[in-house]
Amino acid sequence: MSLRIMIVDDSPAMRSFIGRIIQLSGLDVVSCVHASNGMEALTLLRKQRVDIVLSDINMPIMDGEQLLRELANDAELTSVPVVVVSTDSTDSRRTRMLELGAKGYVRKPFAPETLRYELEMALGETHG
Ligand SMILES: [Mg+2]
Repeated sequence: MSLRIMIVDDSPAMRSFIGRIIQLSGLDVVSCVHASNGMEALTLLRKQRVDIVLSDINMPIMDGEQLLRELANDAELTSVPVVVVSTDSTDSRRTRMLELGAKGYVRKPFAPETLRYELEMALGETHG
């Protein structure tokens, strides 16, 4: 499967890092779009389709929670799987993000295998 990925994080260094980890994980990535907050992600998603979104929570302008709400309320985008990647390691936060529709939750810092596993699980749910 050739994957189109979007990485949403306000840290350019973190976006590059996540992108590199994904490349190294052996997944077949054909495109990788970056967005620095939820609003930018929504704007881009309305123009170009991706297979999966990896999103931070704490970001200016629009955070990851609001991004999940906006996606859930958008008929065109509600089926796009989102895996949250956050430094927030609390169970309550993880539970809330999953309730808002996230398909996975990865805590920073993460091992490459963890990220790959979460991506595959999230994609498995939507791509059979
Ligand atoms: Mg952040």
